[in-house]
Amino acid sequence: MRIVIAAIETGGTKVVCGVVSENEPRTIIRPHRISTTTPTETISAINAYLDDVARSDEISALGVASFGPVNVERDRERYGWVTGTPKQSWADTDLLGQIQLAGTVPTAFLSDVASAALGEQTWGAGASSDRVAYATFGTGVGVGIIIGGEPLHGNGYPELGHVMVRRHPLDRLDGTCPFHGDCLEGLASGPAIMSRWGTDASSLPPREQRRAFAIQGYYIAQLATVTAYATGVEKFIVGGGVLKADGLLEAAREQLAAVSGGPGGSHAASLDRPDFLGAPELGENSGLLGAVAAAGRVLRG
Ligand SMILES: [Zn+2]
Repeated sequence: MRIVIAAIETGGTKVVCGVVSENEPRTIIRPHRISTTTPTETISAINAYLDDVARSDEISALGVASFGPVNVERDRERYGWVTGTPKQSWADTDLLGQIQLAGTVPTAFLSDVASAALGEQTWGAGASSDRVAYATFGTGVGVGIIIGGEPLHGNGYPELGHVMVRRHPLDRLDGTCPFHGDCLEGLASGPAIMSRWGTDASSLPPREQRRAFAIQGYYIAQLATVTAYATGVEKFIVGGGVLKADGLLEAAREQLAAVSGGPGGSHAASLDRPDFLGAPELGENSGLLGAVAAAGRVLRG
């Protein structure tokens, strides 16, 4: 029997599962996808997958990364629960408690963005530092932060996607955040871009695309700057569906110096390095590999 670490990443539309062997932790074997439907149906499919793995491999640890909000602090009530999520049927779901393997082997539980940040910090674009942030721009905007090699949380976890930002002078959008209107997520998420342009940024004609990138890059640069100022991260990785638009990361880099004050500005020098803003290197696997890394740490104590 092989000894493996199992990892589960739940998302709003799909759950990805995989295992890695302990001596080759970057390579996902037995990858499997499950559609996210009701909690009961989805979690029983997760249990069926883990049972199937356990028939041929010995699972030494389990990592679970989940869309949120989730309770990630072990010593708090309802640890392992998905709480007030906008995904209706999942609000107040004891996710970890219904995964049969959880707790029977060393188990880690963390938010999806913290997990992606940990994956990239362990094996990907953030491997040169132990102070790394990963931001995802998609249906919403989330930021996971690793400080000293550990996910930053406490009283929940950072919600930097909802910081207030300075509006781009050409931007007339009211903002799409249901809570704050024109917070960062309200101006820079996928739905915000759709609402501003009627399409995603990749599909715009060149002239409009330049303007769209300038606006979007301005908001990405502000989020990166605020995160670096508040936490001292040395690397800010940006991913998610919105960043699939070719050239957007470069547009954000162009805005960064103007937003942060550039070299000599009152901040850590790492913010001025051209590679401060970077793309993920683990592709679609940042989150799943982060769950592996977190489980491995619990296993090693
Ligand atoms: Zn908001």
